Amino acid sequence: MKQLAVLGSTGSIGKNVLEIVRLYPDRFKVAALCAATSVDLLAKQIQEFDPAVACVIDEAHRKKLSQILPAGCRTELLCGEEGYKKAASLEGLSMMVSAFVGAAGLSPTLAALEAGIPIALANKETLVTAGEIVMKLAQKKGVPILPVDSEHSAIFQCLNGENPKEVDHLLLTASGGPFRTTPLKEMAGITKAQALNHPTWAMGPKITIDSATLMNKGLEVIEAHHLFGVSASRIKVVVQPQSIVHSMVAFVDGTVIAQLGQPDMKGAIAYALNHPERLDIKVTPPDFASLGCLTFEAPDLEKFRCLKLAYAAADEGGTLPSVLNAANEMAVSAFLAERIGFLDIFRTIEEVMLAHSVVSSPDLDAIRRADTWARRKAAELTG
Ligand code: MG
Repeated sequence: MKQLAVLGSTGSIGKNVLEIVRLYPDRFKVAALCAATSVDLLAKQIQEFDPAVACVIDEAHRKKLSQILPAGCRTELLCGEEGYKKAASLEGLSMMVSAFVGAAGLSPTLAALEAGIPIALANKETLVTAGEIVMKLAQKKGVPILPVDSEHSAIFQCLNGENPKEVDHLLLTASGGPFRTTPLKEMAGITKAQALNHPTWAMGPKITIDSATLMNKGLEVIEAHHLFGVSASRIKVVVQPQSIVHSMVAFVDGTVIAQLGQPDMKGAIAYALNHPERLDIKVTPPDFASLGCLTFEAPDLEKFRCLKLAYAAADEGGTLPSVLNAANEMAVSAFLAERIGFLDIFRTIEEVMLAHSVVSSPDLDAIRRADTWARRKAAELTG
C-alpha cells in the first residue's frame, strides 16, 4: 500500500490524483491532504479519505476547517509553511505529490526530499526557481523525482531504457493555447474569459493563463532542463494543436520517439504514482482514424514573447528564472483581477527582469530574496 501526501488536493491535479486513489483503494492510501484556502472541498476530502494530517494556509482557515468537520474527526489539522513541510515529510510516506500552484511548492518539496520521500512533481515552479538545489538534493538522497507535467512525463516515458548520451534534443509540444490563430493586433483586447477558455486541456486558472501566453511552455523548458539535464538550447518547442503528441525525444541517429495519448492529466499522474507499472485508469487511446491528421507548427515568438523571456532566463540562469516566475505569478494574478491587460503580462515580466541584478549560483536565501524583490517590483508595476 502506497502512502500518499497530496499537496494541492483541491486543485485540478489534486482532484485527479484522488480520482486515481478512488479507482485503486487497494494500492493507495491518502496520509496527508493539503490545500491553501478551499476549506469546504478539503473538508469533504478529509471525510472521504481519512488522512492522518491535513494542512491549510493559515490559522484562520484552520479554524474554519475544524468548524466544518464533524466532532470526532481524527485528522490532525495543521497550518502554514511548517504545517505543509510536516505533511510533506510524514513518517512512512511512500510519495509526496507536489501540486501546489506557484513558488509555494518549493519548501515542502525540499522537506520531503530531506526525509528521503519520492516526489511526484506537478509544481513546475519548484524546478524553475531552485532547479539546481532541488536536483542536487534529490541526487544526494537518492530520491526519484517523477514528472507529473504531461510533457515531462512524455519525455520520461520516451527515455525509458534509452542511453541519455544518445539524446540529441528534446521536443516539447504545446497546444498553442486559445490565441494561436489570433492576429497580433487583436491581442491587446483579450479578456479574462477568453484567456481562461483553453481549447484542449482542463486546468486551474493560473496555468490556463500561462498556457494562453505560452509562459507555461517557457517554464516547462526550464523544468525539462533540470529534470533531464539537457541545456535549454537543446530543448525545442513545437506547437501541436490537437494535444495528442505530448512530447518527443530526438536521438543522435535521427530517430524521434513520441508519447501520444488523450489530453487527460490522469495518464501522467498515474504513471508517476505507480511507476514503473501502468494502471488501467479508464482512459481510451486516441482514435486516429477519426482524428485524421496531427499537425505541427513553430511557435510565434513575436506574438508570444513570454516564451522568449523564459529562454532568456534559462540562458542567463542564476536568480533570473526565479524573477521571471515571481513576476509572472504577480502579472497573471493582476490580469485575473482585471487590473492589467493581456499584453501587460509580458511587459511587466520583461520590465522586472531588466531591472534585476542577477546573482549567479544562488543559495536558497538568494533565491528567496530575488523572488520577494521581483514580487514587490511587479506589484508596483501592476498597481
Ligand atoms: Mg504541461
